[in-house]
Amino acid sequence: MLRTFKVDKIHAGIVPESTLFKTLRYLDKEQIETPFLLIDKDKVREKASLIGRHIKKSRVFYAVKANPDIEILRYLNKLNMNFEIASEGELEILSSIGVKPSRIISSNPVKSLKFLRIAASYGVHSVSFDSAEEVDKLAEFIPHCNVYVRLSVPNEGSEWPLSKKFGVELDEAAHLLSYARDKGLNPVGVTFHVGSQCTNIYNWNIALDKAKTLWDLATKKGIRLKLLNIGGGYPIRYTKNVIGIEAIEKNVNSLIFERFPRDIEVHIEPGRAVVGDAGIFVTTVIGKAKREDEDWVYLDVGVFNGLMESVGGIKYSYIVESHKQTRPKKQWTVAGPSCDSFDVIDKNVTLPEPHVGSLMLILSSGAYTVSYASEFNGFSIPRTILI
Ligand SMILES: *Cc1c(COP(=O)(O)O)cnc(C)c1O
Repeated sequence: MLRTFKVDKIHAGIVPESTLFKTLRYLDKEQIETPFLLIDKDKVREKASLIGRHIKKSRVFYAVKANPDIEILRYLNKLNMNFEIASEGELEILSSIGVKPSRIISSNPVKSLKFLRIAASYGVHSVSFDSAEEVDKLAEFIPHCNVYVRLSVPNEGSEWPLSKKFGVELDEAAHLLSYARDKGLNPVGVTFHVGSQCTNIYNWNIALDKAKTLWDLATKKGIRLKLLNIGGGYPIRYTKNVIGIEAIEKNVNSLIFERFPRDIEVHIEPGRAVVGDAGIFVTTVIGKAKREDEDWVYLDVGVFNGLMESVGGIKYSYIVESHKQTRPKKQWTVAGPSCDSFDVIDKNVTLPEPHVGSLMLILSSGAYTVSYASEFNGFSIPRTILI
């Protein structure tokens, strides 16, 4: 069946024409029950090769939680990507595809005992921490491992802040580095996370300032650091334009060059930026209704089975399958399929009239979608398909 979609100019700035073209070709060829997530491999490869290019001596570790689909991990592994993990489940997938421990780090500052046991036996030996309790655990489970301390940094200007849960201030961080040394661990560096989908370039400046101050405090204590892990946070375009990766990296690189020793090693841990804009969710319109003054459209994917980040403020762009009789665009409330009133994806979305039974494409949905999905209310977790 040949399908046509109402593609606007705005969509062209969000999804590359080649990704859209591949998606439409796929939809014409395959008849698969929706919802499912398509991932454009070429876009993933392009992003993987772009990230890190403008930061000298950097290594890139894909944050597996963004999308742990085994085919994506296999593909990234073939591209020689490194990986950042937080759990035994993520480690198990990586070990099943033969990723060497030297290419795996864990930047989760609070790791479960089970994970520590399994990570130690696999040979993972580079991990973050931000408490004395974690040092004690590490000294027991992965003695002599390399550790980097997580600093708390401002997360303003990022759409998915992470700062409150993790990170310590400077004096505590310096103290923890010496405590780690005293416990036989190898304190190698510092890390931070500016917040996910960070659209404010100054977050990196503030974070790097703070990291540099810690670096000097550590030197005073006789600890010579060598690793700067700048976490993730690179943004992708959902609706509005965002600052580009090249601009962020050139800025970061020049700050590192000015302030840190020449032999520094830099780690970058992007999740969203690797797979997010390579993904297109394919969904079906399952219903429409007028409730008071609002026009509602219901999709077979919602907050619980894929679009959880919408409740945190991520606003997606939609492409509607077109029909013969076109009505003027209007504002829609977009909701998911479950019986929970929390299952509302967005409000005031301007769309051409969607038809029940038609497809709707959701752009930039490759990261933190399927990995968050549950089977709540009996809706199954959507498949991920690489194209
Ligand atoms: C989630 C996470 C990342 C990835 O963040 P993005 O915003 O998706 O790039 C990187 N590092 C750590 C420690 C994380 O928890």
